[in-house]
Order: sequence, then C-alpha cells, then structure tokens
Amino acid sequence: RELPGDPRTDIIPRQVLHACYSRVSPSAEVENPQLVAWSESVAELIDLDPKEFERPDFPLFFSGASPLVGGLPYAQCYGGHQFGMWAGQLGDGRAITLGEVLNSRSERWELQLKGAGKTPYSRFADGLAVLRSSIREFLCSEAMHFLGIPTTRALSLVTTGKYVTRDIGNPKEEPGAIVCRVAQSFLRFGSYQIHAARGKEDLDIIRTLADYTIRHHFPHIENMSKSESLSFSIGEEEHSVVDLTSNKYAAWSVEVAERTASLVARWQGVGFTHGVLNTDNMSVLGLTIDYGPFGFLDAFDPSYTPNTTDLPGRRYCFANQPDIGLWNIAQFTSTLSSAQLINDKEANYAMERYGNKFMDEYQAIMTRKLGLPKYNKQLISKLLNNMAIDKVDYTRFFRLLSNVKTDQSILDDVLLTPLKAVLLDIGKERREAWTSWVKSYIEELSSSGVSDKQRKTEMDSVNPKYVLRNYLCQSAIDAAEQGDFEVVRRLLKVMERPYDEQPDMEKYARLPPAWAYRPGVCMLSCSS
Ligand code: AMP
Ligand code: MG
Ligand code: MG
Repeated sequence: RELPGDPRTDIIPRQVLHACYSRVSPSAEVENPQLVAWSESVAELIDLDPKEFERPDFPLFFSGASPLVGGLPYAQCYGGHQFGMWAGQLGDGRAITLGEVLNSRSERWELQLKGAGKTPYSRFADGLAVLRSSIREFLCSEAMHFLGIPTTRALSLVTTGKYVTRDIGNPKEEPGAIVCRVAQSFLRFGSYQIHAARGKEDLDIIRTLADYTIRHHFPHIENMSKSESLSFSIGEEEHSVVDLTSNKYAAWSVEVAERTASLVARWQGVGFTHGVLNTDNMSVLGLTIDYGPFGFLDAFDPSYTPNTTDLPGRRYCFANQPDIGLWNIAQFTSTLSSAQLINDKEANYAMERYGNKFMDEYQAIMTRKLGLPKYNKQLISKLLNNMAIDKVDYTRFFRLLSNVKTDQSILDDVLLTPLKAVLLDIGKERREAWTSWVKSYIEELSSSGVSDKQRKTEMDSVNPKYVLRNYLCQSAIDAAEQGDFEVVRRLLKVMERPYDEQPDMEKYARLPPAWAYRPGVCMLSCSS
C-alpha cells in the first residue's frame, strides 16, 4: 500500500483511508516554554538521566519545538463509539507520537506529546491543550500508577507560553500546555474498529494491526505452544470451552477482555470514575488512558458522574463502569469477528471471561479492603448501602476501618469511635444501623485469627490515604495559573506514596472543602 500520510506535516483535516497513522510533526506555537513538573520514575523507565530535566532546552524538546534526534513523529488513526453511538473517524487530534525508546531492559516505550498542534485528525478543533487539563492528566497518570493501577504515564508537563481559547459560548483565554505521555502502546479498541467501519477492503488491516499488536505486546500468545496453553481453558467445564490454542486471535481477545475486567475492578476498588469510557478511550493493553473529566469518589454515590456532558443520562457513572467495560469489549470482539479473526463462539467466550474475571477481581479487592478472611457478599453490600445513605467519604472510610478492634467486649456506644470522623451528623437511627454493621463486621473478623495489628498493616497497604481528589487538582491548577508550580510538584510527591502515612502532608488527605462543590471543580466538562 501507499505510505500513510504525507511526511511533510500535512495537517488538513481529512478521512485517512487504508492507513493506521499519518506522519506529522508537532506544530504548536511556543514562546519560552517552561517546565511545570516532571516524573523521575518515568525518566527511569526510559533511561533518561534526571539531570536532563534541568537542561534549559528540555522544555523545547518536550513541547515539540525542537525535534528529537531519531524521532519519527506520527498521529494515529482511530474511531470509536462515543456515548454508545458510532462516531466514525476520531484519531489523535492533538496527540503526536515522537517515537519509541528501547531501554536497557529491552522494553519499548512510546513517547507522545499531547497538545502539540494539529494533525489530520483534528477535525474542527485546534490540536492544543490547556494547563488546567494537562495538570489533571499529568498528576492522575502518576497517581494511578502509584496506586498500583495500570495506566499510561506522564514524563513531563510544560507550558507553551501561548494562550488557547476554550469554552464556546463563554470564551476564555487559558495558558497552553503539553504533557509528554509514555506507554508501551496507545492502541485503543477504536484503532481496530475504524477499519471494520470502512468496509470489506480494509478488513485485512485489522489482521495486520492485530498481528503487530500480538507480536509486540502479547508475545506470550504468539509463542504459546499447544501443550503450554492447554491449561488456559481448564476449570471452565460448566461453560462452553473454547480451545484458545488453535486461534491466537481468540486467545488475544480473551486476554484483552480479562485485562479490561481487572482494570475496571481496580477502579471500583479505589473509587475512580473515568468519566468518558468511549471505545476510543479503551486501551488494548488494559491501561487507564485519556484523563479528562475523571473523578475520585468523595462521598460514596454509585451514580457519581464527574462529566457534565454525561448528564442526565449518567452512562459512565461510577456504578456503570463494569457494564460499560463489557459493552466496549463486545464492540472490540465484534470488530475481530467482522475481520473473521474470531468466530461468534470465541467472541462470546471472551465476554464470558470478562464477567468472570471482573467478579473474581472485584470480590478479591473488596475482601482485602475490608481485611476479611473471605468474601462476604451480604456484609459488603450492606456496607455500600449504608455508605450511600449517609454519603460517607469513600477513601477516608476504608482508611479508618483498619482501626476497628476485634475486642468483643467493646461497649456499643464506643463501637463507632474509630469511624467517628466520617460518620458525623448522622441521627440515632443511622447510628444504630452502623453499630449493627460494625458488630457483624467484627464477628466476621474474629473468625480469621489475624491480629488487629497485622490486619491494619494489610488493610492500610490496599486502602490509600491519599487520592487525587478533584479539589486537590483544582488547588494545583489555581496556583499554576498564577505562575506557582510548587503545588503541582508537591501533589506529585504526595501521590507517589498514597498508602504511606505522611505526617507533613495530612492536609492532602482531608475531605473536600465547601468550595470543592462549585461547578468546574467536582463536575467537569470535556473542554480541555
Ligand atoms: P476525548 O473526548 O478527549 O477522548 O477526545 C475525542 C477526540 O477528540 C479525539 O480524537 C481527540 O484527539 C479529539 N480532540 C479533543 N480535543 C481536541 C483538540 N483540542 N484538538 C484536536 N482534537 C481534539
Ligand atoms: Mg480520547
Ligand atoms: Mg481527552
């Protein structure tokens, strides 16, 4: 086929046919770009000496103003279902991959600038990003990683020194910024879907791209020999067993389904709501990708929807994420089916495995969060029900829960003392409901034989003290917009150790202040 795109930065918005990407160079205008924040742990991934961050020309390279030697910049073509509707071609409208770094451990890491100018996929938009949303993406990528949740990473955040106009209707000038994202791959479900949507003649591109993905990112599937892989389907007797050894694409679709299930289970565990789970925002590697109007739960509310664009429907609310994950997997497997890489039975099997994996992981996570000896459905659903009624802070509750003692002789009226800080302002009736719950909780714990001290250590290692609440992002944004980047940098440090007590940083573990409930702080639009 023809070479994809035109290497000479052809950025005319267009339908890019028969290709997975277009070569394009960063073109955002910059004027004295400044380094806002950087991640030393991401630098380590790509063997970058942290001293490089101090180079005066670092912001020039990581704003795209100076090309990296050996780079081969391009933008990817992809499509997607947005809010349940097929939206056609989307693509990297403002993300430009600079190239890949092969580190000393032979790992391949892709470096991508977000907000570095237009590409053929920019449609009606400007290819740029503002400081506000870039701070959110930078901080949350790293916060998620340190929570132990698979995610794309963020190496650096620079301001461009130029202004960008946002919010049609009420236009506002905002400082422009660029995040350098890092991942082994940014391929999404939509990267495969787009070619199925284009008709029969492009179906072989799906196979080519799937082969590429398996070879580079799922090599164990390619190398799977018959004998090794037989155990893959053992233990599923009561279901229709699909032999995954005879079709690598079927094995791959199962792995994508399971990684996605495990990712969503972890989101539910920490109370993370992605906000825009369109199929173009679903990583084929099972990473959290594309941080926009996301939010961590403060007060527990299953219908929490941080994205104002998703109201009143709440398709992507907290409690819907597991079902949406499955809906998205169904789109993905349907794409593989249309390219005849898998058959209907194999597609159904991948979806079944999504469901099983999600339940296994979710139950294991909740069991660990409560420090229980084994999963107890009734106890956990009663708890979540109580938390929803009393709008209990999700993060603080679980962190405090490890202070409950199993001493059965504790009097009823002091039973709730360890949880006092999150059970303020509840009436007598609700105190009784909580007292009864704590009693059955203690009863369950007592059967485990684990000491209170040991249980606390284990629970505190899975229940974070620090999560990137939206109001914390906002305080970093407010300071940065005034030219003070210290809050962003300090928040990164705090979020790098979310499970540790950090006595000097207690204020970042606080409940949201009253101002956090104003629009734009706890509720966000897609405008970024
Ligand atoms: P998102 O809702 O962030 O997942 O974005 C959906 C699509 O819109 C993707 O194709 C993005 O690349 C594109 N997009 C979002 N913002 C911009 C922008 N400022 N300029 C160009 N494309 C954009
Ligand atoms: Mg996106
Ligand atoms: Mg986005």
